[in-house]
Amino acid sequence: MAARVLELIVFLILVAFSRKICSRKFFWAFNHPAYGSAGYFLSWRLAVEANNVRAWRMVPSQCLRHVEDYMTGGQYERDIELIVDQIAEYIEGINVSEDGLDAWILDVDDTCISNLFYYRGRRYGCDPFDGPGFVAWALRGECPAIPPVLRLFQRLIEAGFKVILVTGRDKASLGEVTIANLQSQGFDGYERLIMRTREYGGKGAVAYKSAVRKLLVEEGYRIWGNVGDQWSDLQGEFVGNRTFKIPNPLYFVS
Ligand SMILES: [Mg+2]
Repeated sequence: MAARVLELIVFLILVAFSRKICSRKFFWAFNHPAYGSAGYFLSWRLAVEANNVRAWRMVPSQCLRHVEDYMTGGQYERDIELIVDQIAEYIEGINVSEDGLDAWILDVDDTCISNLFYYRGRRYGCDPFDGPGFVAWALRGECPAIPPVLRLFQRLIEAGFKVILVTGRDKASLGEVTIANLQSQGFDGYERLIMRTREYGGKGAVAYKSAVRKLLVEEGYRIWGNVGDQWSDLQGEFVGNRTFKIPNPLYFVS
């Protein structure tokens, strides 16, 4: 009899304990992504994309596995597809003029073509930027297209917009290879590729890209949209009627 009572008490204790473990509060506390490095990465990425964290030099090392998952596991591309859907909705409402002056500005690196393979070797931005290493990578001319942006590019041209590519890449050293790389990846039919020349040497990205856009507006172009992976692509003067930020949790360009 005493043994049965003891068994019953043990059973009741186990039931009470398992209920506690399965309770929402208990489960949330130990499994919610807000705890641990996964949660930290979500906060980091949001803050970076919202431009709340600025001038950062490296991705925090506890984000390494998560930034890799984000960039290679499909969510990065899905995020860009949603942005491209928004752009498609926006351009449907624009009456493109026949004067050939309705323009879009697209950045090149990590907007049209991807440097993800390079950054994979730099622990997805957890290692410091290596200028000569990046130039050596760019000189290979093997940056793949970012598929949703390539589709956007083609759609803009079909709709009659003039697509102008503006990049901080140095024209003298990377001009030819960049043209060939874009061509090989299907970026065909753009109006102009504007690269950094000596006259813009030493200028920050915001000043350089603002100066380029100013010249385009002075030529009569109407900038309907401006797409880039860096806030410095989208800030300054003559930014366009709408700007669209492509995600980039790998590096920051000021
Ligand atoms: Mg870029």
